[in-house]
Formats: sequence, C-alpha cells, structure tokens
Amino acid sequence: MRRPFVAGNWKMTQTHASAVALAKGVADGAKALVDQVDVAVGPPFVYLTAVKEAVGNSGVTVAAQNAYFEQPGAFTGETALDMLTDVGCQWVILGHSERRHVLGETDELINKKVQAALAKGLGVILCVGELIEERKADQTNAVLDRQMEGGLADVTAEQMAKVVIAYEPVWAIGTGETATPDQAESAHAHLRNWMQSRYNPDVAQATRIQYGGSVKPDNAAELLAQPNVDGALVGGASLKPETFIPIIEAAHVSVAS
Ligand code: PEP
Repeated sequence: MRRPFVAGNWKMTQTHASAVALAKGVADGAKALVDQVDVAVGPPFVYLTAVKEAVGNSGVTVAAQNAYFEQPGAFTGETALDMLTDVGCQWVILGHSERRHVLGETDELINKKVQAALAKGLGVILCVGELIEERKADQTNAVLDRQMEGGLADVTAEQMAKVVIAYEPVWAIGTGETATPDQAESAHAHLRNWMQSRYNPDVAQATRIQYGGSVKPDNAAELLAQPNVDGALVGGASLKPETFIPIIEAAHVSVAS
C-alpha cells in the first residue's frame, strides 16, 4: 500500500507574512492527518526558512520549487541543493510544466537536477505531462515516455525510493479544467507500467504517482480513489488552508476505503 502524498506548490505567490500564516494554517489542519498522509508545502525560495519554522514539528514537510545542479559557486541567481538541505527542505519539485514551458527547461537539464538532488539525499517530485495539442494528437503516452526516460536517465532502482512522479497534464494546470478520473488513471497506469519495464515490479509498485491539475476539494476524492493515483500536487487550492486541508482529508479517507 502506497502512502498518499499531498504537496502544495505555492508558485511565485505570497509575502513573508502570508507565507507564515498559510504554513501555520496548513500545519494546524494537517496535524491530525499526517499519521496516514505525507504532506508538503512548497513556498518560494525566500520564504523556505520562515515556512520551515512555521510548520514546526507538525509533520508537514517543506519542498523547494526548483534548484540548480551545480555545487555552490559562481551561478548568479541560482539556488544550490546544499542550501535547500541547510534550511531543512526535504523535497524539491523538478520539471514543473512552468519551468519546462515558460523557462525552457529540457529533459537533459531536469535530469542533471534530479541526479544532483538524489545525490544530496533530497526527495524529488518529478513532474511530467502533455500539452493539449499532444493529447489531441494521441501523443500523451509518447510524451510521458520521453519525459520519464529523459528525467530519470541514470537514476538507479535504489534511488527511485526517493522519487515521486507527478502527472500534470499541462492543459489542466491552473485552468480549472481537471483530467477526468479515467484520464488520470490511464496516464498513471501507463507511468507505472513504464517503471515496471525500465526498473522492476517492486519499483513500479512502490513509487508514488501524484496527480496535479486543478485539484480542488470537490474533485479530490474521485481522483484519489483511482487505484494508481497516490496523492496530489496542488497549485491554486494549496494557497488557502480552507481548500488545501479538505484535499488532505480526501487522501486520508482514501486510505481507509
Ligand atoms: C501545479 O502548479 O502544479 C498545479 C497543479 O496547479 P493547479 O492546481 O492550480 O492547477
């Protein structure tokens, strides 16, 4: 049985004060749910330390939204993985569609980041997902294969214990349009089969696959009830405890059913 994992991606939002208040709200609401569900919040870099302090010992962990693969040094504007571990960050989100499609990140660059993050002992949430035109052209599985092959190049079966996959169809991110439970389940099953062929059945069964794309309190239960959906990566609805906590509750309920 895979333990559900719900993570919030705060993107480039918040002030210092609102980030601390949001982190405290999530920590309070999630305290009773972290017995069965892993929960992480992903603030912008500048608020990582404050958010880490605000979640305290609630069991809520902290994720960065990106990192650079090089050792600390002359890389102006970048953030090293050592800096993330230094401030108590446990996860790093890599390959998010906004980094791929707005900032131009390639599978090759994402793979360097994945490898470097795993070498530092960080957990990686690797995002994959197709554009709407790729879905319409029946290319979804081919795109997922390419992104998995590229992003996980040279990542060993042992290292996969620290990797979570987030299936995020680009057309569903921040659009209010959610993949149907069937569409999500079909992509997740494909990703699990990919891991079975590339690695082995144990890795395929143990690796968690989150769904991301307009997850809300009113659609979370249905998505999380799918056999291959092991959690959610949540953008917009993670920005308020009132909408984020019910999604964690839905994950908690999914464990019992
Ligand atoms: C995301 O940013 O990863 C995301 C899924 O956003 P939203 O929930 O707003 O679609």
